[in-house]
Amino acid sequence: MAYIQFLGAAGTVTGSKHLVNTSFDGDGKGGIQVLVDCGMFQGQKEWRERNWQELPIPAKEIDAVILTHAHLDHCGWIPRLVKEGFRGPIYATPATIDLCGVVLSDSGHLQEEDAAFYNKINKSKHSPALPLYTLEEAQDCLQYFRAVQFGEAKQLSPEFAFRFVHAAHILGSSMVEITLALSGQARRMLFTGDIGRMRDQNIAPGKVIHSGPQEGETADVLVMESTYGNREHPKDDPRPELVKVITQTVQRGGSVVVPAFAIERTQKFVFMLKELMEAGQIPKIPVFCDSPMAIKAVQIFLKHTEEYSEQTKQLIRQYGSPLTWEGFSFASTAQESKKINDSHAPCIIVSSSGMATGGRVLHHLAQRLPNPDNTVIFIGYQALGTRGFTIKSGAPEVKIFGEMVPIRAQIAAIEQFSDHADPPELLEWLRTFRNKPGVTYLVHGDPSASSQLRDLMIKELGWNVQVAQWQQKVEIQ
Ligand SMILES: [Zn+2]
Repeated sequence: MAYIQFLGAAGTVTGSKHLVNTSFDGDGKGGIQVLVDCGMFQGQKEWRERNWQELPIPAKEIDAVILTHAHLDHCGWIPRLVKEGFRGPIYATPATIDLCGVVLSDSGHLQEEDAAFYNKINKSKHSPALPLYTLEEAQDCLQYFRAVQFGEAKQLSPEFAFRFVHAAHILGSSMVEITLALSGQARRMLFTGDIGRMRDQNIAPGKVIHSGPQEGETADVLVMESTYGNREHPKDDPRPELVKVITQTVQRGGSVVVPAFAIERTQKFVFMLKELMEAGQIPKIPVFCDSPMAIKAVQIFLKHTEEYSEQTKQLIRQYGSPLTWEGFSFASTAQESKKINDSHAPCIIVSSSGMATGGRVLHHLAQRLPNPDNTVIFIGYQALGTRGFTIKSGAPEVKIFGEMVPIRAQIAAIEQFSDHADPPELLEWLRTFRNKPGVTYLVHGDPSASSQLRDLMIKELGWNVQVAQWQQKVEIQ
């Protein structure tokens, strides 16, 4: 019996990990065991603790990993998998591999820093606190990555083949089409990873990469994300709101802190700031992109021109590399980062992580949240249980580095920057399918998002849709 087992991103938006097992007896013998994505759990403690649990099958028995994209909730557990004995190939697109090089190294570095911090203040329940993996372990796992181009067919075993198609979510992002030959019958599975916005530049402004998700798919089994299953993105242009918030903050002498994922979202936002400054809509104040991978991220971004939208090509032709722009600084070292704290004149700080779960943005938030002159602008999804969620939800204080920090700064959220399709866009994409999948499993959503999307798909499309449960095994028929 071939089956899929949902080992993460079921009931939550993090920890994406789906095991495909084609063996008849279920123990992997006589078949192949492949993980689609290998993400880290983030957010609430009950989820994060799952990062420390072993998989239901030994890591060394997994034959391969197929990775959809370089977000930590899809790739962040790979170093741990290798630490636990996995030695197979990790297939990904060339841009995803480049991005993983910086994202995973940064993650290892952060885990070490966090463990060292908790040991120093002695606040860990685990004594001593340990990193999930180290920087060295994160770098060591990069040797297992193998590049697969979009559209290239890859045969992993007599019964298992796959290819990547465009997901249009972030640079390098893909969906995985898997074809299984089971008892002489071909079975097509589609794992969407995260699904990008549809093509409309006005609804999804500042999109770095080209086009919407691959259309005209066929699938017997569809495993699909549901992050925005219960919310529609605003359809208006976010720029007027952004101009208003930044201008008001500067007028009262405050600074703006923007928690943002260091890759893609930061570049997209920085290009928008540049355009607004050049158009005279916001004052030309210093912009700091503060991340250990800031410079490398821009370099990777500039390397993969094959994925750009026309709009991005135009921006780069017009303004050149962001690394050369006057007034824009890219901090890589800890010292450069600390210097930003000394800046008391209005400035804009774009720093990771995007949900304030870790990273240098924590220093900036701890320093700037207590002052009502400042503003924090969220430009991305804030998962339940993250600091970003707490701050955005209007809480009076938030715990950072073990201390309660009062929240007096203005808090703003601009939702249009999302790289996830919302329900109308998902339906538009699903209507391009050439067949009705036998079954659709919804993953990567908070429970209410997944169940509302399920109801909508049943009502609008008449499909057989189920919400996947954590560790649930489903037979591939
Ligand atoms: Zn993603």
